[in-house]
Amino acid sequence: MTDDASTILVVEDDDATRSYLAENLAADGYALLTADCAGDGWRLLETKFPDLVLVDVGLPDGSGLELLRRVRAADGVSSRVDPATPVLVLSGRRGELDRLRGFDRGADDYVAKPFSYAELRARIAALLRRTQRRPGMGRLRVGTLELDPSSREVRVRGERVTLSQKEFSLLRTLASEPTRVWTKEELLRNVWGFRSLGATRTLDSHACRLRQKLGARGDHYVVNVWGVGYRLVDGPVET
Ligand code: CA
Repeated sequence: MTDDASTILVVEDDDATRSYLAENLAADGYALLTADCAGDGWRLLETKFPDLVLVDVGLPDGSGLELLRRVRAADGVSSRVDPATPVLVLSGRRGELDRLRGFDRGADDYVAKPFSYAELRARIAALLRRTQRRPGMGRLRVGTLELDPSSREVRVRGERVTLSQKEFSLLRTLASEPTRVWTKEELLRNVWGFRSLGATRTLDSHACRLRQKLGARGDHYVVNVWGVGYRLVDGPVET
C-alpha cells in the first residue's frame, strides 16, 4: 500500500463477503476500512474520510440506503462527512426498482449480488478516477486563504493555521460565500446546530479568535457587521 492509496470503506454484515472484499481490494493496492453495521460505517465516515464507500443494502441496524441518504444530507460543516463521497451500493436484490431506489438516494453505482469481483473492481476504479478529476474536491480559496475540508487544513499565504473544530466549521461556512453577510442566527445553526440567543457570545468569541489567527500576518478576514453578523471578506475576492 502506498501513501496515496485510495481508502475504501466496506459496510457489509456478511462476514464472508466482507473479508473477501477486504482481502481482494487490499491485494489490489487499496487501503481498507470495514464495518459490519450502518452505525460503525457512519462513525468511520466521520472520522476516517474514506475516498469511496461500498455499502450493502441489508444491514442489521438499518438499510444501507439510509446510510447513503445520511451521507448525501451531510452539510460537511456540522459533521465532517463529505456529502460528495462516492458510494457504490451492493445489493442482493436485482430488480430494476431496487436499482432505481439506490440511484434516487444518490448512489454513484449499484452492483447486484452475486457480483463478479473483476467487474466490481473496474467500477470502483472508474468512480475513483471520476472523483479525482473533480477540481480541488471542495477545496476553497479566498484571496490568500486556502482551506481543504477533507483534511481540515487551513493556510494563509501558504502558512498553516491551526484551528479548533468549531473555528474551522465557522470559517468553512463563511468561506462558502465569502462576501455574503451571515446572520448570527444562521452561523449558530450551521456551526453549533442550535438556536439560542445566549450563545451569541460563544459565536463572537470564536469569530474573534478566528480573526486573530487568520490575521496574524496582516490579512483581514472575518468582518464583523454590527448588529447583523459576520462575513469573511470586506470587498470583492480574487479567487
Ligand atoms: Ca447484508
